Amino acid sequence: MKLARRAEKLRPSATLAITAKANSLRAQGIDIVSFGAGEPDFDTPENIKEKAIEAIRDGFTKYTAVGGIDELKQAIVDRLHTDYGLLYSKDQVTVSCGAKHTLYNISQVLLDNGDEVIIPAPYWVTYPEQVYLAGAKPVTIPTTEADGFKTTAERLKGTITPNTKALILNYPSNPTGATYTEGELREIAEVAMDSGLLIISDEIYDKTIYDGTVHTPVASLSDEIKKSTILVNGVSKTYSMTGWRIGYAAGPPEVISAMNKLQGQCTSNPTSLSQKAAIEALNGNQDTVGRMVGEFEKRKNYIVEKLNSIQGLTCFYPQGAFYVFPNVSRFFGKSYHGKKISNSVDFTGFLLEEAKVAVVPGIEFGAEGYVRISYATSMKEIVKGTDRIEEALKNLS
Ligand SMILES: *Cc1c(COP(=O)(O)O)cnc(C)c1O
Repeated sequence: MKLARRAEKLRPSATLAITAKANSLRAQGIDIVSFGAGEPDFDTPENIKEKAIEAIRDGFTKYTAVGGIDELKQAIVDRLHTDYGLLYSKDQVTVSCGAKHTLYNISQVLLDNGDEVIIPAPYWVTYPEQVYLAGAKPVTIPTTEADGFKTTAERLKGTITPNTKALILNYPSNPTGATYTEGELREIAEVAMDSGLLIISDEIYDKTIYDGTVHTPVASLSDEIKKSTILVNGVSKTYSMTGWRIGYAAGPPEVISAMNKLQGQCTSNPTSLSQKAAIEALNGNQDTVGRMVGEFEKRKNYIVEKLNSIQGLTCFYPQGAFYVFPNVSRFFGKSYHGKKISNSVDFTGFLLEEAKVAVVPGIEFGAEGYVRISYATSMKEIVKGTDRIEEALKNLS
């Protein structure tokens, strides 16, 4: 059958594919340590689950307003105000079926054929695909560990063309854990404003930060920047609610209203029960967030030190999220059982076969020479998996 060109060009999500492969090897009885997951390993907190159960009992099981119920929008408005002093009204907020869906809606209502969208690399795998789906062109700015995996105002300036419509920022970053300081953001945003760009700011890891790192939403820097920024966030990562599918955007009313129109013809409202749970997540006691981040921080400290102690590996020190992105390029050119490792995909295959450890190749994030390791798994698995990596690397020749 002849599929639409846009469907043929679409790449499957690499992170979901790795997790599926690890699961299928496990099903065959092979003991795999999976560092592929892009979600917290903690259960959703009890108080949040309770509200969804209550909602079922109360019969809150019908369609709701397309962009989410008022009470949820108010909870989002309040959270952004309390945490960052950001002032939005409810018509500047819309809720979708996960932040991934929010980002999809944004690209569909903002981008036309021929538009260019600047995406610093390494980037989250989904951004370029969504830009392609909207008929526009992703333009990447490569960064390395020596840059702290961050782009600069100057590099942004050099990448802007008359066709550039938007800049996608993601900090703390998936896959690197790098984040921008207020000063860096200000310089980048000023360049974006000078060229009339929109900023799409994916801040889904805003609460998953370590070592006293401060998160500054780019929209909080000035009124002018706020008017050109669409802030994206959700409950998946902060509250360990990936399966509930609640993400949101805050931004200019005309963008929000177009997103609602689009959503009204696609999915309609995000799940009614999940909306009730999300209200509790945002309004309820926030102590569980701190406990989860504290646990991630311990694992991060262990894994960074361990990886850096392995001969030939270097591991960038992340400030947030729950991933490390070590440089594995010094192993390129080496072989095992007569098979040569030439790139991050080969390296990932080697780790799966020889160490029985699943990681994601850097090339999927637009950065050859690295792999992404998620530490959203137990300390026991982290110790076991990194020990296995160390052993397997000793056998490379
Ligand atoms: C996980 C993730 C998302 C999407 O999360 P949802 O579950 O769709 O809300 C968006 N951006 C980044 C960078 C992520 O890692």
